[in-house]
Amino acid sequence: MATGLYIHIPFCHQKCAYCDFYSVPVELGAIEQYLELLLAEARLRGAGQTINTVFLGGGTPSLLSARQISTVLEGVSRYFCLAEGAEITLEANPETLTPQSLSAYHAAGINRLSMGVQTLTPALLPLLGRKHTAKEALTAIAWAQAAGFVNLSCDLIYGIPGQTLASWQDDLRTLVARGLPHLSVYCLEIYDETPLGRAVASGAVQRPDDDAAADMYDFARDYLPEQGVQQYEISNFARPGRECRHNLNYWQNGDYLGLGPAACSYGQDTRECNVADLQTYKDLIKSGQLPTGSSEHLDERDIAAETVILGLRLSTGVDQEAFAKRFGYSLEAAFGDEISQLLQKGWLQRSERGYALPKHMRPIANAVFCSFLRDSNT
Ligand code: SF4
Repeated sequence: MATGLYIHIPFCHQKCAYCDFYSVPVELGAIEQYLELLLAEARLRGAGQTINTVFLGGGTPSLLSARQISTVLEGVSRYFCLAEGAEITLEANPETLTPQSLSAYHAAGINRLSMGVQTLTPALLPLLGRKHTAKEALTAIAWAQAAGFVNLSCDLIYGIPGQTLASWQDDLRTLVARGLPHLSVYCLEIYDETPLGRAVASGAVQRPDDDAAADMYDFARDYLPEQGVQQYEISNFARPGRECRHNLNYWQNGDYLGLGPAACSYGQDTRECNVADLQTYKDLIKSGQLPTGSSEHLDERDIAAETVILGLRLSTGVDQEAFAKRFGYSLEAAFGDEISQLLQKGWLQRSERGYALPKHMRPIANAVFCSFLRDSNT
């Protein structure tokens, strides 16, 4: 079965103030050593599975040189079957990029770039602990386009303390004017254990205003489609044909494999996550073991519920026909009560392919998702 492959690169120059992803400071020689471990894990997990999409995420994968990227992709081709026309995404931080590195990434086979811009408002970048300036981000976008990356995405954050609706609108207008074919917009989550979380808890930074964040989301939801950048998922917008295939597979509850610390794999009714610690990962790989940290068996009810919840993230909604084909019974047979209650409340609507979230429920989708979880029905 075709699978998406996620490869975690757990290194960053420095920790951003809001980040709770698993990453460690990059040290001299660390990447070369890490690539050996990654390839050893690829050998352990590889059984010739067909890989349709590869996503190098992090961390900061653009700390790798183009030669190192080639080493990773050669390893993927050695242990898996990399499909022709596979989407190969690299996550990149603007300050790590040069015109030369971008051309070399493109030549190495990277055909989609996802850039962590986060905000173009200069005063907000230090608050987030980002290392780049807004100008550097815009320059890196121009370099990426010149290097041939037509499949180019930017991540943006809204709901940042001190961010105004006007500055958010400017960010979106600027990126649309630059011809960005894909944008991911995320509401800032504040985690207690991060520097930003501590600053908010101590009162040094004001907690973002929920209503202001909702207005920012609503603006993106209305403005981007007017500009031809259609919403295809709760947080993702793309020009037609530029949707992220790797993430679409997640939302269709497809199988995937993950390599590297904290990476997760899913398939054959099981979800496994690797240990989220580089040293433990290294020790397990060196002793010839899979670096699995946790494993969860999912029964058919769990998988059906996840298929609905993930499908509802998409603007097209959960696909009735695909669901019936996968499970051998209809969506209504599995979740008839939940669906009719949600339809009655106006929290769900019929879509061309099945059922979808109405626009007004997209920012508060969890309220709908909860209805499909087992605990809510027992
Ligand atoms: S670059 Fe990304 S992964 Fe690294 S610290 Fe910043 S937000 Fe976290």
